[in-house]
Amino acid sequence: MKARQGIVFILLLLCSVLAKAQPVRVSDLPLSPLATEWMQLSERHGSYTTAMAYQAFKDRNFSPHGKGIPSLGIGAPPIWLALELLNDSDSERELIFELANGWQDDIRLSHFAADGSEAHWSGGDIHKNAADNRFFRVNLSIKPGVSVLLLRVEGPDPRVLPVYLTSRENTAKRERAEAYSYGFLYGGIVALLGYNFLLYLGIGSRSYLYYSVFLLTFLWLNLSYTGHGSAWIWPSLDHWRQWSNPLLMTLYCITGLMFALRFLGIDKLRPRLSQIVLGLAMLMMLVQAVAFYIDDRALALIVAFDLVYIFSLLMPLLGIMAWHFGMPIAKLFLLASVSTMIGMSTTALTVDGVLPFNQWTYRAAEIGMFIDAMLLALALAAKFRQSEQERTLAKRLAATDPLTGVDNRRAFGEHLLQSWNQSRDLRCRALIMIDIDKFKSINDSYGHDVGDKVLTDIARSIRYSIRNRDHCGRWGGEEFVVLLPNATEQEIAAIAERIRQNIELLRFPRPADSLKVTASVGVCVDEGLSHYEDILRRADEAMYSAKAAGGNRIVFV
Ligand code: GH3
Ligand code: MG
Ligand code: MG
Repeated sequence: MKARQGIVFILLLLCSVLAKAQPVRVSDLPLSPLATEWMQLSERHGSYTTAMAYQAFKDRNFSPHGKGIPSLGIGAPPIWLALELLNDSDSERELIFELANGWQDDIRLSHFAADGSEAHWSGGDIHKNAADNRFFRVNLSIKPGVSVLLLRVEGPDPRVLPVYLTSRENTAKRERAEAYSYGFLYGGIVALLGYNFLLYLGIGSRSYLYYSVFLLTFLWLNLSYTGHGSAWIWPSLDHWRQWSNPLLMTLYCITGLMFALRFLGIDKLRPRLSQIVLGLAMLMMLVQAVAFYIDDRALALIVAFDLVYIFSLLMPLLGIMAWHFGMPIAKLFLLASVSTMIGMSTTALTVDGVLPFNQWTYRAAEIGMFIDAMLLALALAAKFRQSEQERTLAKRLAATDPLTGVDNRRAFGEHLLQSWNQSRDLRCRALIMIDIDKFKSINDSYGHDVGDKVLTDIARSIRYSIRNRDHCGRWGGEEFVVLLPNATEQEIAAIAERIRQNIELLRFPRPADSLKVTASVGVCVDEGLSHYEDILRRADEAMYSAKAAGGNRIVFV
């Protein structure tokens, strides 16, 4: 009998240990948010008044909360959290209660003191002027003995409830650290935003505009869900306070996708895919507008969170796709979006109690997004450099004759015009026109390929014959031009002769090993010509005179 009584007693004791945590000493309160300390009761099976909930707590109908900070999904039923506090000193203790989450609709807190007195507070988004503080905050004075704190939270938003219960000094310390960190974050984002918007104004590339808009929505969203917006920027917008999170989350994803499609060039490479992605995003925005119109915030939140999940998977996928297309900066983009993914999962794991709670783990999503933003700025810069290189290359290619590598006619003409407009030297300038003699017969006898080889060798030989400051171009099929700025008449004559001679000395491999090439050379020395076309015309005439005289000679005018 005694043994049975003993077993029953132990079982009862076990049950009471399971059902009722020990009171928490006010001197032992953690600096991190309350987690295992909480007892909880959900209103899943009907609602309770505060008195009923308090009775239920005393009747041990609350169950231990378990690991991590209390976290329930979207649209969870109202929850009661209770905590027994023991002040074992003989003086009152001042504590600050803070629910460090700015988006809960309806918050009610009751304190049942050891002497039987009660105090009640309420807050949250639905209460008018709820926003004079960023978070719901109450000053408590805990009398000696055992008292009970009872918290009730209701609303459709995801219910993450980090509750701090610490001294005034610790609260101030935490507040200061948060203020600095947000100052740093917002400073960084605003600087990136402003700089990239200026780049857009200066360069006109739309990637910079989309990036600035993306950063702006990130900033706006962060201000919203951290409570800074309500406390600081839109304190009087009661309806907006409830709707800002889902709407800004949607906007954040859409601007992010628009930036990615533009930046990665997917809008040009895969316009259909790009249209589908943007179309779906716009559809989500439409659903949000409908949800807003019928005032269904749970719907808006589900759509917004689903969109965020899709977004954080889609961004790296778009990166991989662009990488696959051979875009080198896609790697940076990929790294950036993976950084946001890691940050978001770290925050989620912290809320679930898998990772230890601290400001780094809890706010990892913000850190990830910030690193993401910086890496994207780097990627934008890399893209700019790449397109500059491509532009330079394209310009060079457009100015070069592909066969011989010297300037083509257009580029040579531009160069001639440019140097013509520059102030004249004291010494002469001259233009040499070179036409290969009977070139057509080379093509006819040896074929076009040998003809090409001859042209290439001639161009090389001309370049070899002139000075560094002289400029050579291919004027037509087998005609070349050379501009000699700043030369004496002797130098001009020597260079022209060198050109003619070096062409004559060219030898070619079999089957053209017996081929000898000559050129007719016309030289016009500028002695006060009024128009740059005159020098071309006169050199051409001189060249024709040389040709008419039998070729392989130089005529000066
Ligand atoms: P002339 O002594 O009067 O200068 O006679 P020509 O045969 O050199 O001059 P013509 O202008 O009658 O012929 C030029 C030839 O050059 C005609 C064309 O087929 C050839 N040609 C033009 N461009 C190229 C080219 O890029 N490659 C090759 N292989 N031949 C070319
Ligand atoms: Mg010719
Ligand atoms: Mg010709």
